[in-house]
Amino acid sequence: MNTRKKERAGLFGGTFDPVHLGHLRAAEEVREQLSLDMVYFIPAAVPPHKDPSHTTPPRERLDMLRLAVGDNPRFGICDYEIKKSTASYTVETLRHLKGHNPDSDYYFIVGNELFGEIETWKEWRELFRLSNFAVIARPGYSGAKEAKLPLALQNDFSYYKENDNVKFYRDNNSGLIAFSRIKGLEISSTEIRRCVKSGRSIKYLVPASVEEYILRNNIYTRREYQ
Ligand code: ATP
Repeated sequence: MNTRKKERAGLFGGTFDPVHLGHLRAAEEVREQLSLDMVYFIPAAVPPHKDPSHTTPPRERLDMLRLAVGDNPRFGICDYEIKKSTASYTVETLRHLKGHNPDSDYYFIVGNELFGEIETWKEWRELFRLSNFAVIARPGYSGAKEAKLPLALQNDFSYYKENDNVKFYRDNNSGLIAFSRIKGLEISSTEIRRCVKSGRSIKYLVPASVEEYILRNNIYTRREYQ
């Protein structure tokens, strides 16, 4: 009999330009709430919804992520998307990961401001067959306190259970959506890029190693960012 425990892993997709303490704290809180063994950060190569000419090159975003997660044994990085040079769609990444690790129980972690538009994602129905979802109430966004299913999902998913911080919905294929209430930190990458450009401090918004990397390599102050 195979008694090996299924791995429960969070998959946290994003541009991470740069990764900040808001991302790290959210991942840590969700990991605890859902008893995940690991959270893998998945930096996007060319984010489908962002202008590629304004995005920091993949290698530097990856360097910053490595510095940021290096001291947490329960955090890892999946470089599948960033190694591709074309636009990266979540459905393709999930297919790839599920193909290699069919027994893993995945939770795709996403802020509620993005989850609200899930029906605009490529092959969005398929996403729920490949992974569970952990939707985080991102601090500072309207509706942050609400655990609300987007209209497109209301026929397929129904209320399942809840505890203090997480409300679960499930569909007939037993895919789960976990609305996770986190304390979080109201920080965005946009705010950090703006601060650096205008010479303001980013101390305590990103890990010290990431701050040092940004300043040493003139990320966000180089000519291409002007
Ligand atoms: P930008 O300001 O450039 O749009 P961002 O700060 O939103 O960047 P992304 O890399 O685009 O960061 O976000 C990746 C994921 O992390 C998204 O699901 C987003 O909702 C979530 N996220 C970003 N910032 C926070 C935060 N402070 N707390 C919780 N979740 C966050």
